[in-house]
Amino acid sequence: MTRVLLLGGTAEGRALAGRLHGHADIVSSLAGRVPNPALPIGAVRVGGFGGVEGLRAWLQDERIDAVVDATHPFAATITAHAAQVCGELELAHLVLARPPWDPGTAIVAASNVQAAEIVVRQSYSRVFLTTGRSGIAAFARSDAWFLIRAVAAPDVAVLPRRHQLMLSRGPYAYENEFALLREHRIDALVTKNSGGDMTRAKLDAAAALGVSVVMVARPPLPVGVRAVGTVEEAVDWVVGLGSG
Ligand code: NAP
Repeated sequence: MTRVLLLGGTAEGRALAGRLHGHADIVSSLAGRVPNPALPIGAVRVGGFGGVEGLRAWLQDERIDAVVDATHPFAATITAHAAQVCGELELAHLVLARPPWDPGTAIVAASNVQAAEIVVRQSYSRVFLTTGRSGIAAFARSDAWFLIRAVAAPDVAVLPRRHQLMLSRGPYAYENEFALLREHRIDALVTKNSGGDMTRAKLDAAAALGVSVVMVARPPLPVGVRAVGTVEEAVDWVVGLGSG
């Protein structure tokens, strides 16, 4: 059977591991950032590889034939490392990247820093910040009030002066997002363009309530990588490797 490293940490990664169970020899990999992560079916390894060198050595030691990168669209470092090493080792390589959201009327920011500048420029006063733990530092010196939602606790040193912290994990339902925005009198939502259904209800609730949206654009994929948008396409690609 084709031996595949599946870089995960996403619902798509878990779904893909489940779909390929018995069809390929899959090792899922998680970064190990969040407590009690949802685990995929099958073999799982946890923790960084130790940069490009570590990943190269691991792939060789484990006799991996192919890598599927199903990490989050904003996990740009591991995606760049995997693309580089697979190129060097001539390993089959696929990125599974869920389609981005249409920003619609949102103000698009190129980075968290730019999103923080937009919050100041637009004079937003009560902001729902959902950029994730690593995105919070850019807002540390802002005078606005923030409702910060993250999966794991951020470093207190990076928190803005006026905030409320909510630790939780999606998926999130429309009714709850609507109630949250209203209860906290939110005037702007700041979000990454994560894509997918698990966290999109906040966009629909913001639209219904007339809440402004600042959307941080995705980092580009490494040049020349093969990418698909759905778990089904990734299943077909892996199964096709075994029959090729
Ligand atoms: P990142 O910035 O691209 O990667 C930073 C480092 O973390 C990498 O250099 C690598 O360490 C390690 N790493 C990342 N993903 C890994 C994986 N699946 N298996 C083993 N090591 C991994 O990544 P990130 O944005 O911090 O995301 C970390 C994990 O959280 C990913 O699995 C991603 O799918 C998941 N996640 C991220 C977000 C997000 O918004 N960024 C949202 C939801 C889930 P070494 O250099 O030591 O190999």
